[in-house]
Amino acid sequence: MRMRRKKHLIPRMERCGDLWVREPELSCGRWLSGRTEEELHLEIGCGKGRFTVLTAASLPSVLLVAIEKTQNVLLTAMERTEALGLSNIRFLDVDASGLASMFALGEVSRIYLNFSDPWPGQRYEKRRLTSPRFLSIYGQILRPGGEIHFKTDNRGLFDYSIAQFPAAGYDLEQVTYDLHGPGICGVMTDYEEKFHEAGTPICRCVARWRGENSR
Ligand code: SAH
Repeated sequence: MRMRRKKHLIPRMERCGDLWVREPELSCGRWLSGRTEEELHLEIGCGKGRFTVLTAASLPSVLLVAIEKTQNVLLTAMERTEALGLSNIRFLDVDASGLASMFALGEVSRIYLNFSDPWPGQRYEKRRLTSPRFLSIYGQILRPGGEIHFKTDNRGLFDYSIAQFPAAGYDLEQVTYDLHGPGICGVMTDYEEKFHEAGTPICRCVARWRGENSR
């Protein structure tokens, strides 16, 4: 189903001022220059931004760059940020496949992947955000010891991903198949709230970049 374009989409995005970075390549290697934050985190596929705003509010020493290729949902995330007056978030309306030209080698400390599209079937494997192609791109921008925090409701995507991480140079930590089983844990995303309410268990892991490759 195609989503109808939101009314006045671009002017509304423009109204969010500095939050929307239109030429991210110009900031490559300089995301933290002249800023007070000490670390750079990325969220890939931020959707409507519930996790984005709550995470940034709880981590004031982090600049959180949120990436979302669908402008319609990105606008909601931007307007939520604007309404809360958060200054440590930036939004990019780009596809994650181009990240290596927007962030320098080792510039990023952490990447969040929340409820990424599962793309079932062999034919679309390359589009999964945990496929070898993407894990290699993340390796180019993560510092050694940097982390990917991955959550999904999709057991097929999770099993696939935990097989890919070690093969691509990451060590797996904190693997769980029922994150909220013992009680709510961490900040929930928009999708996560719905899945959790419906009784779907949430899988989560942390993958730590060993830092053995370079560009
Ligand atoms: N993280 C949000 C949204 C999950 S849906 C939540 O948990 O609520 C997955 C989102 O990832 C979609 O909004 C989709 O547009 C975005 N996405 C998928 N592939 C992407 C890519 N290659 N680059 C940027 N965004 C992507």
